[in-house]
Amino acid sequence: MDAEMTVVQEQAAEAPEMPEVLVSVRDLKKHFPVTKGALRRKVGAVRAVDGVSFDIMRGQTLGLVGESGSGKSTIGRTLLRLEEPTEGTVVFDGGDMAELSARGLRKVRPRMQMVFQDPHACLNPRMTVSSIIGEPLVEHLSMTSRERNERVEELLGLVGLNPEHANRYPHEFSGGQRQRIGIARAISLNPDLIVCDEPIAALDVSIQAQVVNLMEELQDLLGLTYLFISHDLGMIRHIADRVAVMYLGRIMELADVDSLYDNPLHPYTRALQSSAPVPDPAVEATREKIVLEGDIPSPSSPPPGCVFSTRCPEAVDRCRSEVPVWREVSPGHGVACHLVPAI
Ligand code: SF4
Repeated sequence: MDAEMTVVQEQAAEAPEMPEVLVSVRDLKKHFPVTKGALRRKVGAVRAVDGVSFDIMRGQTLGLVGESGSGKSTIGRTLLRLEEPTEGTVVFDGGDMAELSARGLRKVRPRMQMVFQDPHACLNPRMTVSSIIGEPLVEHLSMTSRERNERVEELLGLVGLNPEHANRYPHEFSGGQRQRIGIARAISLNPDLIVCDEPIAALDVSIQAQVVNLMEELQDLLGLTYLFISHDLGMIRHIADRVAVMYLGRIMELADVDSLYDNPLHPYTRALQSSAPVPDPAVEATREKIVLEGDIPSPSSPPPGCVFSTRCPEAVDRCRSEVPVWREVSPGHGVACHLVPAI
């Protein structure tokens, strides 16, 4: 018996640790009403997010990729309850966000932060860097001013800025440095989750990799979990563990990063991948690119059937009338397309 238990214990010790789910999103919808006239009569709805489900594992990065207007940022804002969902659930660390009272929400808020695309627009130009980074500390923690200053200096060091520059103003820093200030503010309260909404899109290409590297280092150091929103499939590859590809408010494909890049199943994923630049000029010159015709349709009148059918190079009649069902075609690899065979 003892020997048997030892074998079981040994097997348990050898089994790979299953990542823990930090955020679980099910059938999330966010529709914005379209109104008309002085009485603001509702005449339609913009279906910014239209029934998405995914999990974000603790300590990992889920990349959310898609063209502008696909609903990525709305998902990020709805997750943090900066927007109220129209339908669906967001469970954070085991608790349903919709059931939180104002007090409960205030307790959870410090654990979920956001890094924005344009650091210039979201840093108050009249506040010193010390005040900007220290503001959440004042709001949520009771610290003496000395403790706060020490924490601000520590945070500046963590993001690679000179702690002696704490009393400078945002305009005295470069774009990359300003994004580091935004990151320092976001990590000031030791959050679990950071929604990174196109955090490098406004930066010079030469600076982008530095900021991504910093975010990866901080993730390892602080055990952070990221939802990393980007239109750039190439950049997502470097930072994400799993990737969800979005189009017109829906997830088209979701897989771990290697499966998605080595074996993209959805025609939209293949089109995005073919248009992402490749560093090797020889490969770049010879590879075949899939050019999508037309623009992404309006989310207030999405096409019937598959929402990608108006631009899909592989569409068949069925695609224009029947919504493809989400299917998991291999463990952890899901897709919504009629033409992907079931296993
Ligand atoms: Fe294209 Fe049809 Fe698949 Fe949609 S369901 S992605 S239109 S082939």
